[in-house]
Amino acid sequence: MKSKIKLWLEDGTIDIFIGYKTVKGHPLPHCFTLSNLEEIDELIVGPFRYPLEGIATDIASEQPNAKIGILVRDCNTRALNVLYIWNQLDRNNIKTVTVNCCPSPLKQHGDCSYLEPEKAGNYKKQVGLDSNMDTASLEAFGQEELLGRWMYEFQKCIKCYGCRNICPVCFCKECSLEHPDLVEPGKLPPDVPIFHLVRAVHMAGRCIDCGLCEDACPMDIPLRLLYRKVNEIVLDVFDYDTGTNPDQSPFSVLGDEVTLEPKPLEVA
Ligand code: SF4
Ligand code: SF4
Ligand code: SF4
Repeated sequence: MKSKIKLWLEDGTIDIFIGYKTVKGHPLPHCFTLSNLEEIDELIVGPFRYPLEGIATDIASEQPNAKIGILVRDCNTRALNVLYIWNQLDRNNIKTVTVNCCPSPLKQHGDCSYLEPEKAGNYKKQVGLDSNMDTASLEAFGQEELLGRWMYEFQKCIKCYGCRNICPVCFCKECSLEHPDLVEPGKLPPDVPIFHLVRAVHMAGRCIDCGLCEDACPMDIPLRLLYRKVNEIVLDVFDYDTGTNPDQSPFSVLGDEVTLEPKPLEVA
């Protein structure tokens, strides 16, 4: 793998490779280029996860023609598919090196939820929700209890923005979650449930269920469960399976492409 990446950098296939390197004992994202080619020997692949594609998005926004190599697992690949579709990355400028999936060292995901959501036989919380539940078992609560359980979870939020900041598909330059008309500055918990519903709506057709937001959340809010639910609706209504296909646009309804024509300005 390392010799292939070296070769790519030397022959100009890529300008930069985004992977990991140990710095002072900590595995950190690292950019390898021709100017630090010898560092490729320090490239590591281990049981840690970071949204490297977010770094690629930042580089591409500054240098749209940069050829970027990137280390990917299954969830990174799904995130790239979403970022291609949302025109955040040009797939012609991306070269991937695939490594095996692994559970997060922070919280065990058991298996890749993308393939088969883990079925939880006993609910670990009596008043809240467990991210390992499958979405079908949510319905068994009935609407009123389910709402109460979600509100319990949302009220734990300390608005640290960790979920948004770590998310590989939260790429907006201006985030609605910081708009004072939606989320009152300085208020904790953030307006319940608006803060979480705004993000849930934005994750519809975007969330690739990598679980990084849950790993980042200090309050143990079952965010993946929420986004898995909205994506189920997207799949059901739009036949769009988020992250699986770099060619299918989420802006299609039952197979018909929706073109977003700019509206002419109305002059009074
Ligand atoms: S699981 Fe969380 S971090 Fe991952 S894509 Fe979905 S919202 Fe973003
Ligand atoms: S929460 Fe919504 S507005 Fe904020 S960065 Fe994510 S997708 Fe964009
Ligand atoms: S990471 Fe958790 S506590 Fe922080 S803003 Fe997101 S949901 Fe709230």
